[in-house]
Amino acid sequence: MKELIQKLKKEHTLSKAEWTELFTHRSQQTGEYLAEEARAVSRKIFGNRIYTRGLIEFTNYCKNDCYYCGIRKSNRNVSRYRLTEAQILECCESGYELGFRTFVLQGGEDGYFTDEKMLLIIRKIKERYPDCALTLSLGERSKKSYEAFYQAGADRYLLRHETADCGHYRKLHPAELSLENRMDCLRQLKEIGYQTGTGFMVGSPGQGAEQLAEDMLFIRSLNPQMVGIGPFVPHHDTPFAKEKGGTVELTLYCISLLRLMLPNALLPATTALGTIVPDGRERGILAGANVVMPNLSPVGVRKKYELYDNKICTGEEAAECRNCLQSRMQSIGYELAVDRGDYKPPV
Ligand code: SAH
Repeated sequence: MKELIQKLKKEHTLSKAEWTELFTHRSQQTGEYLAEEARAVSRKIFGNRIYTRGLIEFTNYCKNDCYYCGIRKSNRNVSRYRLTEAQILECCESGYELGFRTFVLQGGEDGYFTDEKMLLIIRKIKERYPDCALTLSLGERSKKSYEAFYQAGADRYLLRHETADCGHYRKLHPAELSLENRMDCLRQLKEIGYQTGTGFMVGSPGQGAEQLAEDMLFIRSLNPQMVGIGPFVPHHDTPFAKEKGGTVELTLYCISLLRLMLPNALLPATTALGTIVPDGRERGILAGANVVMPNLSPVGVRKKYELYDNKICTGEEAAECRNCLQSRMQSIGYELAVDRGDYKPPV
């Protein structure tokens, strides 16, 4: 296993059989060795500076019905909300004062937010905060929309592929959604010039070593600037309510492998990881992640953006969240950076 890890570190790529072997023969010892190697790589590139992104969950309406997601269309128990433009701008304002230089607008696929409405919001944010990066995470749209948003000033786009295995994708999504379209969107986003993020859930129902190997191969070929991964966490009002969630160990293992495969990538220690264990995000950083994404949404709506059960940080104000994360990072020898935190390609 050590030889494979050294090979990955040197060549940044492995064959499908090698990836499968890494996932099949995972042990605690290998995980620890891998984390040390990955942490050394991220230390060398990013020092002890952790980039932050202020997450604004601006709508929980969604036309999709993904089997894992708490805000899926069929979940009648969700109290739906949309933030107004003024509310979104207030989130940015308080975020800016707290030191955020990237805002992430994330939401369900909500037809109310037409291109026209999104363009007005994007332009407003970029006009008021020209020194900030703006990330969108709005799901699948047409290439024309992606282009228009980019022209209006959006810098980055997050769209997890969720799984790179066709059959597995079918188990997680209803027939209207296809892996092919998801991947097309990702390629378009990159082509347009966005710093593009993809990613997947760790431990989603039906995922095994083979599927994870496919994820690594797909990510290698897309070569995205960001990769967001977190454990699958069951939501009580979804078809996957009774399924097992992903583990911390496997999530950390994947983060470390991603760090060795794409040394310069922006890798968040996600809220989902912090949800399944109290020190999840710290452990994510120590396994090679270099980004955290605290919540800037108004406290009144946070519980309503419940993608999975027991999501953390739904009761605190943005300032508390930032302070809490700052001290968590300091406790392991890292600092939150006041910086856009753009992707920098290897020199
Ligand atoms: N509509 C946007 C944003 C989706 S929410 C889009 O399609 O990109 C962001 C991410 O949350 C999803 O990509 C998914 O990977 C993750 N997520 C959804 N439900 C989850 C669950 N039950 N457990 C863990 N992560 C989940």
